[in-house]
Amino acid sequence: MVAGALGLVAIYLATFALYVVVPGRWVDGYVTDDAGRPLRYHLNGLPVFLLVVGGAVALAALGVVPADFIYVHRVEMLVSAVVVGLIFTAAIVVPAPPTGKPLAADLYLGRWKNPQWLGGRVDAKMFLYLVGAVMLELCLLSFAAHHHATHRADPSPGVALYVALFSFFLVEYLFFERVHLYTYDFVAERVGFKLGWGCLAFYPFFYCIGLWFAASQPDPHVHPAWLVASAALFFCGWGLARGANLQKFHFKTEPQRTSFGPLPQRALAEGDRRILVGGLWGLSRHINYMGELLMASGLALALGYPGSIWPWLYPLYYIALLVPRQIDDDRRCAAKYGPLWREYQRTVRYRIVPWVY
Ligand code: NDP
Repeated sequence: MVAGALGLVAIYLATFALYVVVPGRWVDGYVTDDAGRPLRYHLNGLPVFLLVVGGAVALAALGVVPADFIYVHRVEMLVSAVVVGLIFTAAIVVPAPPTGKPLAADLYLGRWKNPQWLGGRVDAKMFLYLVGAVMLELCLLSFAAHHHATHRADPSPGVALYVALFSFFLVEYLFFERVHLYTYDFVAERVGFKLGWGCLAFYPFFYCIGLWFAASQPDPHVHPAWLVASAALFFCGWGLARGANLQKFHFKTEPQRTSFGPLPQRALAEGDRRILVGGLWGLSRHINYMGELLMASGLALALGYPGSIWPWLYPLYYIALLVPRQIDDDRRCAAKYGPLWREYQRTVRYRIVPWVY
């Protein structure tokens, strides 16, 4: 228990220390302070991620720490992450001014919207996403190391593909860190159990649930075309999610542009309120969520065990996360945009999956 707990705390502290000291670039966010000024953000997620993961890989290569340390201590590390997440939740919620809701609601959803210290150098949300991504990547690598060590003669190419696709997902998320300042998490969410415990415990240990199962399994010997199709599905989803998120980012930051690559930046407008209805945003009102679901399905399939429930828990979780999120975002936007939002709902009829939902 002690080794796993110390390992987890060491990873989280190292990530925090590097997050504070590694140079990055300063940008304006989308969220504003009480005076209407955009919050400032210090973006250094990708270099910090590469330093921590590179450092851990180097320690494993030198034999200082076994490559499958996290796999071997996975349950202790998960329990420790749950405890760290609970301590974080209490520490960030209890001292903040109450919102007027019951304490349980404040603990779950949080009180403080965008906690920042040192003028934005330390931002709670940016750090939480970063530490979750670091820990998830280390879980992926360690679980895969265990698989290769125990199935040395016949390792599964699906495990290697899964880790490669997931690593791509994490690196590209951090590469586009600035785009995420324009998402629901920043504009609508507070920092409490959902976001804090979610990033410290749930995100790193649950997102790789497929590998908790597949790491100990033999190679299922799927046809290579299966692996190609899984990767193709993943990248189709990535194109939709990243394409839509970038299209909306440019729509917000460069309103004068009439196109984003081949995609028209067509908008419904009323006064200074504008809603994007061109390109990918004409397919459904949350086409980016559909992209996310396809990526998750591609990852589940890559492991080559379509008959097992474990790899599917990840895409199923996305449905449970994104459908209520879409409903809540719709409510928020209907209040913000009024009749223009209803016109948008008539123009772009589907919520997430075109012609289905
Ligand atoms: P969106 O990117 O759709 O952002 C919603 C906000 O964007 C709305 O509140 C509104 O805010 C604005 N908006 C929505 N539609 C339009 C439009 N047509 N024109 C102009 N503005 C619009 O959703 P999220 O922030 O929830 O998701 C962002 C990405 O993060 C998605 O790809 C999602 O799948 C992904 N994600 C990933 C998760 C993960 O665990 N990997 C978890 C959750 C999300 P406003 O008007 O105030 O600008």
